Amino acid sequence: MKLASYAGGEWYRASAAGKVLTHAVNGEAIAEISSDGLDFAAVADYARRVGGPALRRHSFHQRALMLKELAKYLMQRKELFYQLSSATGATRSDSWIDIEGGIATLFTYSGKGRRELPNSNICLDGPQEIIARDNTFTAQHVYTPIQGVAVHINAFNFPCWGMLEKLAPTLIAGVPAIVKPASQTAYLTELMFRHIVESEILPPGAVQLICGSTGNLLDQLDFQDAVSFTGSASTGLMLKKTPAIIDNSARFFMEADSLNCSILGSDVEPGSAEFELYIKEVAREVTAKTGQKCTAIRRAIIPAERLDAVTAALAQRLAKTVIGNPASEGVRMGALAGMEQRADVLAQVEKLRAENEVLIDRSGELELVDADAERGAFMAPVILHATDPHRSNAHDVEAFGPVSTLMCYRDDDEAVALAACGKGSLVASVITADAQVATRLTTGIAACHGRVLVLNQACAGESTGHGSPLPHLIHGGPGRAGGSEEMGGIRGVKHYMQRTALQGSPDMLTAITGCWMSGSERRLDAVHPFKKRFNELEIGDAVVTDKREITLADIEAFAELSGDKFYAHMDAAAAKRNPFFEDRVAHGYFLVSMAAGLFVWPGEGPVLANYGLDHLRFAAPVYAGDILQVQFTCKQMDNRETEDYGEVRWDTTIVNQDDQVVANYDVLTLVAK
Ligand code: NAP
Repeated sequence: MKLASYAGGEWYRASAAGKVLTHAVNGEAIAEISSDGLDFAAVADYARRVGGPALRRHSFHQRALMLKELAKYLMQRKELFYQLSSATGATRSDSWIDIEGGIATLFTYSGKGRRELPNSNICLDGPQEIIARDNTFTAQHVYTPIQGVAVHINAFNFPCWGMLEKLAPTLIAGVPAIVKPASQTAYLTELMFRHIVESEILPPGAVQLICGSTGNLLDQLDFQDAVSFTGSASTGLMLKKTPAIIDNSARFFMEADSLNCSILGSDVEPGSAEFELYIKEVAREVTAKTGQKCTAIRRAIIPAERLDAVTAALAQRLAKTVIGNPASEGVRMGALAGMEQRADVLAQVEKLRAENEVLIDRSGELELVDADAERGAFMAPVILHATDPHRSNAHDVEAFGPVSTLMCYRDDDEAVALAACGKGSLVASVITADAQVATRLTTGIAACHGRVLVLNQACAGESTGHGSPLPHLIHGGPGRAGGSEEMGGIRGVKHYMQRTALQGSPDMLTAITGCWMSGSERRLDAVHPFKKRFNELEIGDAVVTDKREITLADIEAFAELSGDKFYAHMDAAAAKRNPFFEDRVAHGYFLVSMAAGLFVWPGEGPVLANYGLDHLRFAAPVYAGDILQVQFTCKQMDNRETEDYGEVRWDTTIVNQDDQVVANYDVLTLVAK
């Protein structure tokens, strides 16, 4: 099978012979890969000219819905991907992370995109900045999609997840992508990509695929483009130095290899629940995906007095790991992705052996189920011990397979120092039952890590584990790990957008952002805005209410009704002793309630529900005798694509008789279309 690229809306197969890719388990040729003859300038141009505009004709919500459709489409075909996945050496549970984990990332991004982004193509960053005394000149930070193309270069170990976790935030942002899978497992990426194309869910040019070399693609990139690279630090650094990327300030995100660690707390005794958790976690990270996970535990940092107990428990657990053909029943650990990868791992293990002692190595007694060690890329787990942990090369040498090194510490400071020797990692875990140990270790190591899992018995049942990046959380790390971030929910979408500080008059900024800015015009027409349907409402539609005097009787009645008899509302002398009040003060929640009493239109109408408040602040105390009025203004409107209502956010400002703001917040409502 000759793998094809998908470029300019068509499948392309190189005529020249390509590199032969082999089956991880039986060593047979499985595919040939080459992108020879592709016009890479045309690929980039097609993405920018066709894909970008086609995507950006839709809103964040519409693109998020495309992801949901795509996720459903791929999920219905998942067994096809599972079948081919075993050729990569992956067991069913390894493939589950890759295939269903990847599809789940699309679902999560779809949900987050529709909940957390507006239904438009411009997204606010933080609140309006008040920068002029009379508020005739104001500012707002916004994000808009970059106008170029994202090049996604992926590692071989997650051929599906690697593609999907990068596509989800990129497509929601409105940026077309060119996917370049690692050659060794590109046959699986190509299969899934074929189904993405066949689904016809994404607009033309939104995604292209390069199977084989990227040729001079990176030389085409400019300041509106981005590269998201996952792979080894050496390849990443080499690509980051591409002259076009440096000269044109193209964005370059790098997720590189990392010598992640897991620390066993000094409080954890052998036999305890946390000790079992530690052993389970380390053993799982050694064997899952045959150790080919960028997040795997490469360094197990343990109290010196626990070396024997940890070694014995790990040996016992790893001895139970059934290795062999991942398609066969009962096999827990499959093969590495190919013979080249195995040669690579074994060479790295040799380097580690030179400076560390081998504690566990089952290679001499490797019994494979339904597989031949000569033909498949199999390998036994190897556990080493850094006899001189501060100078061990285990802080530098990544053996991307079932390999981990134990290193001993004497106190928490030494554990923190050893963790930092990895020079920046994707993830660390701290396994302890003691909150003080957890605090010391976590605050000590957090700056060197993109993610820290603190694991104890209380969260073990639901824990997603040391090695699992989640779409909600950032994935990435400082230093050697590449210095970038991916995912992290909507943070990941913003990597493909430009942040701009907009300055101007409030009316102009309202028009541009679609969000009513304080200081903008309010439209006070005869029709109360609660009588308008979603499609009749406009930003700036407002009510300025009647005035209402607050009385002592109001304060007492509210105290009685709510049961809130806090002294500042009830006792004048006590209130006066409080540094903030001059007398009995009205309840803040009373103000919110009485404001609703002033601004609502009570009759049955298109406003369906109030689903919350945002940013509520009580800015000044309210005393009996104060006269209040509410300015209630339609601030932001989000059309729900799949519902017959939209979301409307109302700026709500309560002022007193001196025009002083006493409370400000957003009221959130659902309004029928
Ligand atoms: P790699 O050899 O660095 O390759 C990574 C990607 O770069 C592949 O798609 C590769 O394509 C491509 N590439 C290589 N040279 C290139 C060039 N000159 N121009 C354009 N693209 C080029 O890494 P790998 O062996 O696939 O993956 C294993 C490594 O990735 C491990 O070190 C692991 O720790 C790391 N990793 C990191 C993460 C993370 O999230 N941080 C995740 C997974 C893996 P070809 O295959 O066609 O050469």
